[in-house]
Amino acid sequence: MNVPARAMPSSPTSDSPRGMALLRDPLLNKGTAFTEAERDALGLRGLLPAHVLSMDDQVARVMTNLRALPSDLEKYIALNALHDRNEALFFRVVCENIDEIQPLIYTPTVGLACQRFGLIFQRPRGMFISANDRGRIAELFANWPYAAKLIVVTDGERILGLGDLGAHGMGIPVGKLSLYSACAGVHPEHCLPVMLDVGTNNEEFLNDPYYIGLRQKRLSGEAYDEFVDEFITAARAAFPGVLIQFEDFANHSAFRLLHKYRDKINVFNDDIQGTAAVALAGLFSALRVSGGKLADQRVLFLGAGEAATGIADLVVSAMMAEGVSEAEALRRTWLVDSRGLVVKNRAGLTEHKLRYAHDHAPVGDFLTAIRTLRPTAIIGVAAVGGAFTPEVLQTMAEINERPIVFALSNPTSKAECSAEEAYRHTGGRALFACGSPYDPVQLGGKKFVPRQGNNSYIFPGVGLGAIASGSRLVTDEMFMAAAHTLAYLVNPDDIEQGSLYPALPRIRDVSAHIAMAVAEVAYRRGLATVPKPNDMMAFIESQMYDPQY
Ligand code: NAD
Repeated sequence: MNVPARAMPSSPTSDSPRGMALLRDPLLNKGTAFTEAERDALGLRGLLPAHVLSMDDQVARVMTNLRALPSDLEKYIALNALHDRNEALFFRVVCENIDEIQPLIYTPTVGLACQRFGLIFQRPRGMFISANDRGRIAELFANWPYAAKLIVVTDGERILGLGDLGAHGMGIPVGKLSLYSACAGVHPEHCLPVMLDVGTNNEEFLNDPYYIGLRQKRLSGEAYDEFVDEFITAARAAFPGVLIQFEDFANHSAFRLLHKYRDKINVFNDDIQGTAAVALAGLFSALRVSGGKLADQRVLFLGAGEAATGIADLVVSAMMAEGVSEAEALRRTWLVDSRGLVVKNRAGLTEHKLRYAHDHAPVGDFLTAIRTLRPTAIIGVAAVGGAFTPEVLQTMAEINERPIVFALSNPTSKAECSAEEAYRHTGGRALFACGSPYDPVQLGGKKFVPRQGNNSYIFPGVGLGAIASGSRLVTDEMFMAAAHTLAYLVNPDDIEQGSLYPALPRIRDVSAHIAMAVAEVAYRRGLATVPKPNDMMAFIESQMYDPQY
């Protein structure tokens, strides 16, 4: 069933609820900012204190309160409560303070929030579809009151680097979709977070009285696949053309689901493809400093999971786009996992690693792999905190004039090294990107400003471009275009201070440019279903929600 879109108001209309119902509708509520005329017209007189605040005053008040809170988790809870009360104000606060707020509504704080989700749960957001709903998922979608254009869905099995958090993983789709609205202006009403609650194998949660999900072990095998398939079929019937983003599925599901659906419908996996694009953009930026082509690099990954193989695949495609053969590009790309270097004669390699299993003698540890392979770049995506030891960093600095060091694991406790360590142990020569936020580092009279290789530079723009063009698929070519666009938007001042990504406050402009590049690919490849606009940028910008009253 297709749910008719409710009007997409920034302000109440004649059809809107009135009085108390209006104050309780987060999409329409302006709180104390309702004007005198609105208070008369909308039955609000007497329901609000006399003084009318401007939206700017409300933003300032929220920030004052937020900064007075003693912990990031309490800030997360306060922001969630605001989100539930007044969406426009929440998004205005996020947009105007993105540097400060993103780490609170997304990584790293969202990791802690998911771990405590049962305790901090106040109001449901999005849809919880459980294994008990098999056979009637279509009926559930009839309960959703808005016309979704974008679904972010997880089954909670691999939340960040934290493992199986079951239904508590819902914090991730909620956080991601907040970033979609804040960073790319996808209207909140079009965003639907979904938790596929297939159970959990997390014993602690199964015995936790406050765990919010199904108290049973995970569905697996055919039953799991049928459940996901029913969800996808029902979602596409309820919301024709809806873009579906897979999020934080475990390896064994993530690769299989992506390969099953990616050439048929508009889906993507941000952990695999979004991560790949943001890392590739970082490499392009680093090469603006160190010189040389991507195809000349030797890239060594610590980790061989979704992020590592996703990045490796896109790096190989990008090397090939520079003119080298696939075999040569693969020879330049290596993985180390928990059992050492991924090489051909290792038994039991899972399918996604096979492409990178080279003919080489076994190497047991990362440092020896660096000494043996002499990489120009190391990329940490194994969620092993501290794995880039001083020796690793010093060795990279011995081998390379400008070593490329990306410590992308998060949350912060899982980071391979801190920014300070990366710069200190390479004599300030590292071209560094991180997965967790770090403050600027002062070293040898120079100030380094590390920036996060955060997927939020990529997925909002990719999603916006795919939705705006009505693209039938989301392709690797789109992610490559996104990576080139992002690297191009890094300005010389950023580069000078060691930043490989643009400043986060530019994110809406960045997302608009990425959306344009993605939409161009959709039109060029005949994937778009929306008539091609004459002015692509104006068209993209016209789709972007601006949180104003
Ligand atoms: P994953 O579970 O798919 O992969 C983890 C990989 O690390 C596996 O291949 C595993 O074998 C390997 N590993 C485990 N212990 C190891 C060890 N001691 N030595 C070497 N390898 C080891 O997870 P993923 O989705 O690839 O994510 C990995 C990390 O990257 C997480 O912390 C995640 O939050 C982070 N990540 C960051 C970004 C970003 O900053 N943009 C994006 C995606 C993922």
